[in-house]
Amino acid sequence: MLGEAGLRLRQSVSDALFPKTCYACGNFIPVERRATGANPAELAGMPPKAAFYRVMHPYLCPACLTDYAPVDTPLCAKCGEPFKSRADADHLCGDCITHKKHFYRARACAVYDGALLNLIHAYKYQRRIGLAKPFGLLMYLEFIRHYSDADIDTVAAVPLHQRRLRSRGYNQTFLMIRRWPQMTRKNGISSSSRMGIDADMLVRRKNTATQTGLDRRTRIKNMKNAFVVKHPDRVAGKNVLLVDDVYTTGSTVEECARVLVRARAAGVFVLTLARAV
Ligand SMILES: [Zn+2]
Ligand SMILES: [Zn+2]
Repeated sequence: MLGEAGLRLRQSVSDALFPKTCYACGNFIPVERRATGANPAELAGMPPKAAFYRVMHPYLCPACLTDYAPVDTPLCAKCGEPFKSRADADHLCGDCITHKKHFYRARACAVYDGALLNLIHAYKYQRRIGLAKPFGLLMYLEFIRHYSDADIDTVAAVPLHQRRLRSRGYNQTFLMIRRWPQMTRKNGISSSSRMGIDADMLVRRKNTATQTGLDRRTRIKNMKNAFVVKHPDRVAGKNVLLVDDVYTTGSTVEECARVLVRARAAGVFVLTLARAV
């Protein structure tokens, strides 16, 4: 049984974990929120919007909880860009027809907009690292949805340059995926039971400034030779899942995929939390 001190401690831990303001918009959250402890197998059976609601409800106000647009078909079979016309079947987008991609396909949880955009900013720039766990869970559900049959051997996060890593203190993407092997072992819902996380598969040797606002050609030029494979022996013959927070033009993950394929990766798959459209 918990004594008074224990209860107080539990309350302060709870307050720290579930503050009363919305992580996305800063508005007051009227009802006290508790984590529901939903497990991945249960969440995987839900529609993405319902799973988002369930996973994020300790962190968001009621308006932001519904301000979420999952990426859904029809989409580009290669890069995962959602199409505006809802009547089409999946097909290749113009960019994937004209520009060869080194990854097999890229998929994302939701459109980079609304509450998710604000959450990602809070996570990266306001040190809301408590979001690593729910974000990691959302991405894991998407991994099950798209890649449970892809026979993934290794998962790697797009690396930050050493200088960026030092100033931020953490690689936001790596924090999201580091619990995946435990989740896979515990739930047995992925075919990739031997899947491991490779924390330093790639090294970023160019400290590119933010790519926001740059056109496609400039982004590609900036990214050229930005990454090197640190341990080619850990890549050769492997199916690699490359994870990043946001897919904007795809130039970052494409450059990573290019060096991984050159290091003889069997296949490169991409998953991001958000997709700019
Ligand atoms: Zn809100
Ligand atoms: Zn495409």
